[in-house]
Amino acid sequence: MTQTVSRPAAGAQKPPLPLDVEAIRADFPILTRTVRDGKRLVYLDSGATSQKPRSVLDAERDFYENHNAAPHRGAHQLAEEATGLYEGARARIAEFISAAVEEVVFTRNTTDAINTVAYALSNAATAKEPSFRRYAVGQGDEIVVTEMEHHANLVPWQQLCERTGATLRWLGLTDDGRLDLSDLGTVVNERTRLVAVTQQSNILGTINPLEPIVARAREVGALVLVDGAQSVPHQPVDVATLGADFLVFSGHKMLGPTGVGVLWGRYEVLDALPPFMTGGSMIEVVRMEGSTFMPPPQRFEAGVPMTAQVVGLGAAVDYLQALGMDRVQAHEEALTGYALEQLQAIPGVTVIGPPDTVARGGAISFTVEGIHPHDVGQVLDDLGIAVRVGHHCAWPVVRRYGVPATTRATFYVHTGYDDVDTLVEGVRAAQRFFGVTPEEATA
Ligand code: PLP
Repeated sequence: MTQTVSRPAAGAQKPPLPLDVEAIRADFPILTRTVRDGKRLVYLDSGATSQKPRSVLDAERDFYENHNAAPHRGAHQLAEEATGLYEGARARIAEFISAAVEEVVFTRNTTDAINTVAYALSNAATAKEPSFRRYAVGQGDEIVVTEMEHHANLVPWQQLCERTGATLRWLGLTDDGRLDLSDLGTVVNERTRLVAVTQQSNILGTINPLEPIVARAREVGALVLVDGAQSVPHQPVDVATLGADFLVFSGHKMLGPTGVGVLWGRYEVLDALPPFMTGGSMIEVVRMEGSTFMPPPQRFEAGVPMTAQVVGLGAAVDYLQALGMDRVQAHEEALTGYALEQLQAIPGVTVIGPPDTVARGGAISFTVEGIHPHDVGQVLDDLGIAVRVGHHCAWPVVRRYGVPATTRATFYVHTGYDDVDTLVEGVRAAQRFFGVTPEEATA
C-alpha cells in the first residue's frame, strides 16, 4: 500500500448531504442515548450491524402483540394474519431487489444463505432425485472466490471443496485494494462450477466490477453467487441487472432485525437444487419410506420461520425505499469523500483500500502508525465513537496488506459530517495519548 501523503485538509469539501441527518436520527431511539459518561453516541459500525429505526421496532412489537402465530400452519385467524404479514414482507423485499417473489428465500443471515447454497451443491452429488443432480460439485471441479471475501463467503467454499474433492481457486488483489482481474480468463475456466464474489468489500470498501466476472462465468457455464451483505443496504441493487444466479444479504445490516437474511436465487437454479435443512414446512408428502419436497422458496425454509424478524425486515425495506436507495448511496459517497480526505491528511494514517471514492463504498479501514488498532479503538470508544477493530472477518485481506488489523469506520443513513469530524479528532487524540504526534509519525 502507498503511504498517505500528510497534508492538512484545509478547506475540505462538504457538499450538501442528500439525506436529512437530523430528521433521520430522530427515528433511531438508540441514538438518543449517551455512552462513556454522557458522550453522544457516534455510531460508525453499521457495517457490522446497523441500528434500527422505530418503525422496524414497532413492526416487530406489533407482530408479537397482535398477530403472533406460526405462518403456513393452523386454521385460525392469527395464523392467517401471520402468514399474510410474512408473505407480504417477502413480496416487498422481492420488489426491493426487482426479483420474483418465489425467488426470495428467508435465511438467518448471509452466512446461512451461503451455506444453504454450498450444502445444496454437495448434496446434489448424492441426490436420489435426478433433477437435483444438475449442479452437483465433485472431484475435478473448481470453485472460484476472491482474496477480498468475508470469511462467510470463503470458509463455506473451502468446506465444500473438502467434502467433494473440488479445488478452490481465487482472484487476487491489487496494491490499491481492488480485484486483480488480469488472470480472470484462466482462474475461471471450463472446470469452474461456481464463482462467489462480494459486490462491496466489508474491509476495503471496494465496489467490485461484477460485469466481466459474470460474463466470464457465463462463457464457461459456471454459476455466480454475489455476496450483497455490504451492497444491498447501501446502493440500489437489482437482480436483473446483476445477471448472477444468487444474491445473499443480511437484514441486520440494512436497518432490519438480527436473525433474518435473504437468499435470492434464479428460479430455474433454485428449482434444480436439493434442500440443505430438512424437516417441517418444506415437505410435499412424507411417508416412512421417504419424502418429497416443496418447490422454492419453501424447499429452503425448513421449520417455523423467523416471522417477526421477516416482518421487521419488511419495515426496514419500506424505510429505505422512502429515503430512496440512490440518495442513500449518494449520501454515503459524500461522507466517504470527506472522511477519506480528512483521515488521509493526518500524518501517520494510512487508508487500506481505494484512496478515493471511485467505485468505493462507505467502509474505511485505516492504520495509525505507531498505535495498534485495538488501542486506537479504545481511545475512540472513550470518546463515544463506536468503530470496529481487528481483521473484520477478512483475515486474508489484512495479511495481503501486511498489517495485523485495521480500525474501520462505516457509515449509514444517520451519519453526518459531525460524526466524521469527531472521528478525525479522535484519531488525533489517540496520537496525542500514545505520544505519537503527527511530526513523530512521519519522521
Ligand atoms: N459478507 C460480508 C461482505 C459481510 O460484511 C458480512 C458481515 O459482516 C457477511 C458476509 C456475513 O454476514 P452475517 O454475519 O450477517 O451472516
